[in-house]
Amino acid sequence: MNGTHTRRRVLLKLSGEAFGGGSLGVNPDVVSALAREIADAATQVEIAIVVGGGNFFRGAELSQRGMDRGRADYMGMLGTVMNALALQDFLEQAGLETRVQSAISMTQVAEPYIPRKAERHLEKGRVVIFGAGAGLPYFSTDTVAAQRALEIEADVVLVAKNGVDGVYDDDPRTNPDAKKIDRITYQEALQQGLKVVDSTAFSLCMDNDMPMQVFGMEPAGNVTAAILGADLGTVVSN
Ligand code: UDP
Repeated sequence: MNGTHTRRRVLLKLSGEAFGGGSLGVNPDVVSALAREIADAATQVEIAIVVGGGNFFRGAELSQRGMDRGRADYMGMLGTVMNALALQDFLEQAGLETRVQSAISMTQVAEPYIPRKAERHLEKGRVVIFGAGAGLPYFSTDTVAAQRALEIEADVVLVAKNGVDGVYDDDPRTNPDAKKIDRITYQEALQQGLKVVDSTAFSLCMDNDMPMQVFGMEPAGNVTAAILGADLGTVVSN
């Protein structure tokens, strides 16, 4: 285990797409099922979560359509906070104690991001959800997942994916011959330009020796299994 904590500690990255169930906004049925999966593992493992926001806005897409990139990225970050609140609600309905920490201050809805406090919550068995990304334009929530995992000394970054069950040697949605890779190094993933996770996140993990596991959210039970340590999807490490 990293650091001083005695239980397994994971940083789970959930993409915004997962929250929308394929459409804009939050699909409560999907988030509630996800929350139950997380709850099934939460008594045994310390769980911190970084939520994406692609089901609302992606800054790069809005800027291609004429918006100022920085402002569009802030909209993207605010979207992640809505996902964080939705997830918090369903996690609490599933019986868990939770805290949302936001990288942009909005003290009525979330605590500010205070890493030491996040660690205390985890030690007390609370699930901590990190919203608003890094609070910085030009970053992605994948990169934030890597950064938060390092700062709270998680054992692994778990990247849950929609519609794909790991890292492939080519895009499986466009190339039916693409092959799934069980294990790959960060160096190889970067050299091959694999885009399943963004390159900044890969390099941050590579430079700081943080392992990553990329796995599919389907079938049901996968998220629980990955949190508990099952060998699913693709392990990326040095
Ligand atoms: N974003 C940002 N800084 C961050 C994290 C996110 O500017 O630290 C913005 C960015 O515009 C991004 C959007 O928030 O497109 C949503 O996050 P992301 O695309 O990573 O979500 P996901 O693809 O995981 O749903």
